[in-house]
Amino acid sequence: MALRTVVLEGDEILNKRAREVTEVNDRVREILDDMIETMRAYDGCGLAGPQVGILRRLFVVEYEDQVYELINPVIEEMSGENESEEGCLSLPGLCGTVKRPTHVVMSGLDRWGKPVTYEANDFLAKAFCHEYDHLDGILYRSKAKNIHALPEGDEEEEAGEKEE
Ligand SMILES: [Zn+2]
Repeated sequence: MALRTVVLEGDEILNKRAREVTEVNDRVREILDDMIETMRAYDGCGLAGPQVGILRRLFVVEYEDQVYELINPVIEEMSGENESEEGCLSLPGLCGTVKRPTHVVMSGLDRWGKPVTYEANDFLAKAFCHEYDHLDGILYRSKAKNIHALPEGDEEEEAGEKEE
């Protein structure tokens, strides 16, 4: 496993549509491992391929001690609506209010190429949708109402995870 450099806003790779993963092989598994390590190193709760310079359709999310990995995700269902704050490792030090579905079902492949379906609610639905957007070249800035700087010493909220 190795840390990868997180691509920051301004790099055009973040505005491009990522391509499908054509073969789920050891290289893909290594990328997923690196993405998880990088996400944790930056105290994030999600990371998408383009954010580590890989223009492929895959992302990882970690929430409540569970890691979710999705390759070539497809949105099967989406419902509900909620506004809440979120951040992004590619826009360090910022957060903003974004409207997201409260319920989403996404299918895709796991790291062994097997079909997998996840049902996500509330925070997890938000995280899945945020990461999915990255695969279409969409940053939350384009959906957020009031992007603002995180208060000093509040960096752990960058990923939108709130402890209180
Ligand atoms: Zn992001």
